[in-house]
Amino acid sequence: MPIATVNPADGQTLKTYDELSAEEIERRIARAAAAFRRYRTTSFAERARLVHRAADLLEEDQQDVARTMTTEMGKPVTQARAEAAKCVKAMRWYADHAEGLLADEHPAGTDVKDSGAVRARVRYRPLGVILAVMPWNFPLWQVIRFAAPAIMAGNVGLLKHASNVPGTALYLEDLFRRAGFPEGCFQTLLIGSGAVEGILRDPRVAAATLTGSEPAGRSVASIAGDEVKKTVLELGGSDPFVVMPSADIEEAAKTAVRARAQNTGQSCIAAKRFIVHTDVYEAFAGRFAAGMRALKVGDPLDESTEVGPLSSEQGRKDLEEIVDDAVRRGATLLCGGHRPEGLAERGWYYSPTVIADITPGMRIHREETFGPVAALYRVPDLEAAVELANDTPFGLSSNLWTRDDAEVDRFVRDIEAGGVYVNGMTASHPAFPFGGVKRSGYGRELSGHGIREFCNITTVWQG
Ligand code: NDP
Repeated sequence: MPIATVNPADGQTLKTYDELSAEEIERRIARAAAAFRRYRTTSFAERARLVHRAADLLEEDQQDVARTMTTEMGKPVTQARAEAAKCVKAMRWYADHAEGLLADEHPAGTDVKDSGAVRARVRYRPLGVILAVMPWNFPLWQVIRFAAPAIMAGNVGLLKHASNVPGTALYLEDLFRRAGFPEGCFQTLLIGSGAVEGILRDPRVAAATLTGSEPAGRSVASIAGDEVKKTVLELGGSDPFVVMPSADIEEAAKTAVRARAQNTGQSCIAAKRFIVHTDVYEAFAGRFAAGMRALKVGDPLDESTEVGPLSSEQGRKDLEEIVDDAVRRGATLLCGGHRPEGLAERGWYYSPTVIADITPGMRIHREETFGPVAALYRVPDLEAAVELANDTPFGLSSNLWTRDDAEVDRFVRDIEAGGVYVNGMTASHPAFPFGGVKRSGYGRELSGHGIREFCNITTVWQG
């Protein structure tokens, strides 16, 4: 894939970039390794000062960087600004909390004595140069979610961003530089995915994190495995959104629309499968389909747009094929299922779509739909809902709508996912761990769990 900014709203190539040469990659790895040797001994106070400065600059730049993101991958500009604001919040959160999250741990006195030590503690030390392979869907957030904790822990970062968001990738490098970070602490590498293996195998690179598709994750994880290097993977999701009879149906349907259509449906934690108890199925389905149909699809730079174009022509083709397969096999379209008239000639738009009467042989039943397409199911009880919810290769997050605490307990006990959001939609927050099970990946981002992923957890035993 060429490294280029191509506007998804009109298909125009706005700028192309040359890939870094092998010599330039080598220079940057050397710079990162040298930066780590010095940066690892900086105090939390110094790191926090720099991260706060970067957060302040990003806050000032919010309008401009939002336009850059929208122009590169097509998200509605209001959502792009919200993404920038979320990054600011996460940076400040880690600047303020990292020292506490990584404070030395002191095992119980009896255990220390039992080990024969006079004193013992656990110290969290940085690992080194971390390679981040990141996707285009939240081009700022995915990077900051990795970088804020990694840098506060004393690591340095190399970013290989998706090839369609080079402007945002270069903005991020510039942001850390302007904040005053020492040279080499955070660098963007304009490279294709073919250059990742060499970097990952370089002994100066300690670990990697990847957010993206399963094939990309599998490739990076197997190379890292071969090199015995730590990885964190955040891959796809097909999150269930279960609605039980005691739920507030009006609210559930409204939230379902937001949960499915956020970021034009291109979010790993978007609810994708709507599993509804038969007693409230009609009431929910009607409201949900009406809400999806009413979404304003249009120019993503327009302040009133709720759903923009998909990020790429290929992305739209992939989505169309999944919908067409379902319809061919007997599924029912409640809304959408086509390109919107008047827009599709210009950019990679697709109408918000709800599909019912899904059967297991359909692709939509097993595959992730990365766009504004919802699969709707009817179930007789919670047991059937959980069974269906778990009938997927993915296990990222999940949503349950009920007022019954016993149902919540059963759902939390049985669901195969890294998150359960009750009477709400999945949304990440710096204080809560984020990540999945099964084919959705492993490891956790955010919270204390996230910052410790790229630490050398060191036992210090003193006799
Ligand atoms: P990819 O996984 O291909 O891209 C994500 C990142 O991985 C990009 O930086 C990409 O680089 C890089 N990459 C791709 N292949 C390799 C590889 N073999 N080795 C190393 N790095 C690699 O996602 P796509 O953009 O192609 O989207 C395809 C599907 O992936 C989506 O439809 C969706 O299902 C899923 N996805 C999930 C995301 C999530 O948030 N979990 C985010 C994005 C996609 P380059 O751009 O240069 O190819």
